[in-house]
Amino acid sequence: MYEMRAEFDPDATGGLENTSSSLALLWHVISKEDSRMALCGQQLVETVHDRLVAAGHAATERCCSPCLAVVRATMQAEDARVGADQAAV
Ligand SMILES: [Zn+2]
Repeated sequence: MYEMRAEFDPDATGGLENTSSSLALLWHVISKEDSRMALCGQQLVETVHDRLVAAGHAATERCCSPCLAVVRATMQAEDARVGADQAAV
């Protein structure tokens, strides 16, 4: 399955500089080809994630919709391939 990683949500927090009060997390899906890269193309910062999870003080969390769109498209492509294999038998 797909692995998720939390990053700062730039839309909700205003970036790394503004993490004091209402910290928001954005969950990306990690690329299988490159574990430092999210499916949406976002570079993942490991230290940020570890610090966020250790602190455990996220105010809000949401999933990255571009990442989820890639997952959905990949799963549909796999379904289509399985369907084609079954049809060929
Ligand atoms: Zn993403």
